[in-house]
Amino acid sequence: MPWIKSEFPIFETARKEGRPLIFLDNASTTQKPQCVIDAIAGFYAGYYANVGRGLYWPATAASSGYDQAREKVRVFIGASSKKEVIFTSGTTDAVNKVVNSFLLPRLEQGDEVLVSEMEHHSNFVPWQHACQSKGAQLKVIPLDAGLNLDLSKLASMLTDKVKVLAVTAISNTLGVKNDLKKIIKLAHQYNIKVFVDAAQLPLSAKINVQNMGCDFLAFSGHKAFGPTGIGVLYGKQVLLENMSPLAYGGGMVQQVTIDKTIMADLPTKHEAGTPNIAGAIGLAAAIDFINLVGVEEIGKHSAELRKYAVERLSEIEGLTLFAKDAKTTAILSFTIEGIHPHDIAAFLTEKGIAVRAGHHCTHPLTHKLDIGGTVRVSFNIYNSEEEVDFLKNTLDEIKSFFL
Ligand code: PMP
Repeated sequence: MPWIKSEFPIFETARKEGRPLIFLDNASTTQKPQCVIDAIAGFYAGYYANVGRGLYWPATAASSGYDQAREKVRVFIGASSKKEVIFTSGTTDAVNKVVNSFLLPRLEQGDEVLVSEMEHHSNFVPWQHACQSKGAQLKVIPLDAGLNLDLSKLASMLTDKVKVLAVTAISNTLGVKNDLKKIIKLAHQYNIKVFVDAAQLPLSAKINVQNMGCDFLAFSGHKAFGPTGIGVLYGKQVLLENMSPLAYGGGMVQQVTIDKTIMADLPTKHEAGTPNIAGAIGLAAAIDFINLVGVEEIGKHSAELRKYAVERLSEIEGLTLFAKDAKTTAILSFTIEGIHPHDIAAFLTEKGIAVRAGHHCTHPLTHKLDIGGTVRVSFNIYNSEEEVDFLKNTLDEIKSFFL
């Protein structure tokens, strides 16, 4: 879709030794369309002020921009109320906040928390740390031979002892999609609260938290065309209401005396201090852009490119593709026998191809696969089959160079 690519100025301006950028690292972060850049610059240049405090003109405009951004996110994720949408600095921040404010006060020795074997460290380490601090047990749901989450094993791990099940929507290393509705239904039979790491979800499929049934869900703006430093925590209203604030300070209170503080209502209660106003405004512009192109369209295009890449890269002898036949999205990991993933990535960058190499913050997964890392390519709406062809040809060159 050439018109869409032209909305991203980096592809016009970024050149390395005259070569255009082929950006295949979209699971890590996405490039920014002009409308997002304009929305952020427009805020700083046109109506910049702090939110929620001033009665003067730019302050009211900034407050209204921030509030509209929350409403846009609410619709984007299908939440029933703006009270359920908390701005955070990203997915990692959201996980930590739920761990500290929801889990820790409810976790006792002997309790359990479930995570999966494919989790990003951001949705693994905070839960692990909380369990270790309370004498609780972190249990890991294994993957089956096809690298899908083993739902029969999961079913056998569900007990009344489990307080939270934290699971990713999509593996950031393999691209494998989890059947969230099924997982959540199973967990709820035991009254287990489910936290969904949706970092890789917003450009893959339409999110509807009510339909999905999750208790918490988080994603990062920067992986969905938005700026860095802004993310979203969705929580069911009753849970957010009954949680202590995610942080304490100014802005999140109704009244403060020397003896006690009365907290503000949702969502303000969970947003202490000056928020990332420009980030929220940029994220709202990103959501407008996603809606304009269509999330289904973006997801379909990227999944088709993955499929095409599976076909083309399968032609290379000695190349192993991971989760080749799993239910997947835009992300594809591979290794080439005899060549270190970092050498492959370093060679690719000389040709202008940006990929990731390593463990992708999923050590438990790469440990299970018994590999020292993978090369990961991840697609987006601005990528094309020609780029996949160029990747394939460059990998052929790499093979003849190294082997
Ligand atoms: N979970 C998953 C599945 C991810 O892919 C990432 C980012 N790579 C994160 C969590 C963390 O996101 P952030 O760094 O934006 O907090």
